[in-house]
Amino acid sequence: MRLNDVEPSNNVRDLGRGSNRSIFGGLGAGRIASGGGGRGGIGLLMAILPYLLRSKLGWVILIIGGIIYFIVGGGGNIASLSGNAPIGQQSTASRSRTACDTEEELFACRVLASTEQSWSQLFSASGQPYKAPTLNFYTDQNSSACGAAQAAMGPFYCPADQAIYLDTNFFDEMKNKLGASGDFAYAYVIAHEVGHHIQTITAISGKVRQAQSRVSKAKSNALQVRMELQADCYAGVWANLNQDRLEAGDIEEAMAAANAIGDDILSRAAGKRPMPESFTHGTSAQRKKWLRRGLESGNPNNCNTFEGIL
Ligand SMILES: [Zn+2]
Repeated sequence: MRLNDVEPSNNVRDLGRGSNRSIFGGLGAGRIASGGGGRGGIGLLMAILPYLLRSKLGWVILIIGGIIYFIVGGGGNIASLSGNAPIGQQSTASRSRTACDTEEELFACRVLASTEQSWSQLFSASGQPYKAPTLNFYTDQNSSACGAAQAAMGPFYCPADQAIYLDTNFFDEMKNKLGASGDFAYAYVIAHEVGHHIQTITAISGKVRQAQSRVSKAKSNALQVRMELQADCYAGVWANLNQDRLEAGDIEEAMAAANAIGDDILSRAAGKRPMPESFTHGTSAQRKKWLRRGLESGNPNNCNTFEGIL
């Protein structure tokens, strides 16, 4: 896929590795917690102080406690002295990295920019503004508004902060473990997550969640499959609008990726017999079918995987 002339999106952030942040974030949270618990702690200390002062063991406990308080409290003060911002924000600011600074990130930033162009165009055709999602890069693990972000989960979309979370190492995983490689296969994954964003801003997700809350687990999974297939179809719509950028073999790459990440293939790869009622992404054949439908039509109205259901 040719995207070299596309200006990378600005709706991107690099969160880096979560464990670094969580040392500071955790400390900050700990201090907040100990602030609340601290008042109770001082009350308790005053109550037991006479007993502690009476014995040698009590003195030892007081000294050790004092040292721990000094280290933890002092460390926190050093962190907060380095800036005026509250500790949590301070650590985020000092840890923030430049997004789009690796080859993989730059590619993802351009794919995102191209989805912004395509979806703005589609939304404006129906007289609506398009509010783009944020793309949050991270490494190994971090946190999202939807809970922990872990590389093992693969890329995902979090509706709570309308952001896509991506560890670009997933591209290596697609290549090495899933046999799905090529720039267009990676682009398809991002476009699929943008598809989930479209479902959120058009309120489809909300309707599906409501319907899911009323039905059995198997039926709820079936609805989830339709969500995923629609996101595949939306990825196809984006590809259709950018067909002048496609190169020979790109469609095959995306189809191979859609094939490799179907539930039936994934569960076989995991050594399990495919159990359709537990599928949440659709079979490889379904994924390819809906990706193709978006790809051939370029029309999101052709992506109604919920026909007759919602
Ligand atoms: Zn999905």
